[in-house]
Amino acid sequence: MMLVAITYHEDFGKHGFSVLKERIRPSFENLMESGLVDGENVQVFKARPAPLELVEKAHTVAHMANMKSDPYEKVALLSAGSVMMAAEMVAEGRARNAFAYTGTAGHHASRGSCWGFCYFNDVAITILRLREIGLQRFLIVDVDPHFGDGTRDFFKDDADVFHINLHSGSGEEHDSLRNNYDIGLSFGAGNERFLAALKSALELARDFDFQTAFVIFGHDSHQDDYGGFDLTFEAYPRMAQMIVEAVGDRGLVFVLSGGSCVHVAEHVIPDVISVLAGRWPA
Ligand SMILES: [Zn+2]
Repeated sequence: MMLVAITYHEDFGKHGFSVLKERIRPSFENLMESGLVDGENVQVFKARPAPLELVEKAHTVAHMANMKSDPYEKVALLSAGSVMMAAEMVAEGRARNAFAYTGTAGHHASRGSCWGFCYFNDVAITILRLREIGLQRFLIVDVDPHFGDGTRDFFKDDADVFHINLHSGSGEEHDSLRNNYDIGLSFGAGNERFLAALKSALELARDFDFQTAFVIFGHDSHQDDYGGFDLTFEAYPRMAQMIVEAVGDRGLVFVLSGGSCVHVAEHVIPDVISVLAGRWPA
């Protein structure tokens, strides 16, 4: 079995949302130069757009109509398709783990509205697809410092989706009946605070029997990037390792979310993928 499937399309860097797109090509080039992608254990696949009929099942008629005139519609469909393709390879046992590049983000896209560089909810659409092929229970770990309100809109009443939100905000709220867990980290949370919160969040999910896990991977959590956390490079491979250990031999899909800094993406994307490939420390 392949260790990591990476889904990518050059349009993410060319036509992605303006804040998000500059990081795409340099980080991909760094990844290709790293020697990690060997065409066997770690492979890159060209993303295809998500099928419209599936996206229409996830979002409202009005939202789909609004998107028709949006300049980001095409790249948003391609982004959702990238996540779907990555997750299918994991679900079908072709790859142990996956990393999906995107050109727009997804976690602020609700059924009927969206904001914050998000258009279609890539993970919600992908879960619809995986349920069509028989999977039912999923873990979502959202480590982007912005609250994943769109994803929550989709799954707030769905106890078969265990949704962990680590966000820059205050307080903790656990709804163990419906498996919604919000962990607010005060503004400027650093590595140790973030990793300790992640550890305890993953412990909450220990007895939840899921088939595939998604990580909403926003590197806007880095201290040089625009989000509310204050992480340094060291945090990212440690975060990925912690999640890999918690997920075990179930499928794990990293989904690229927020982040604009080129030098951050150039570091953290190859670092995370090397953990997913079992090659960390390099
Ligand atoms: Zn974010």
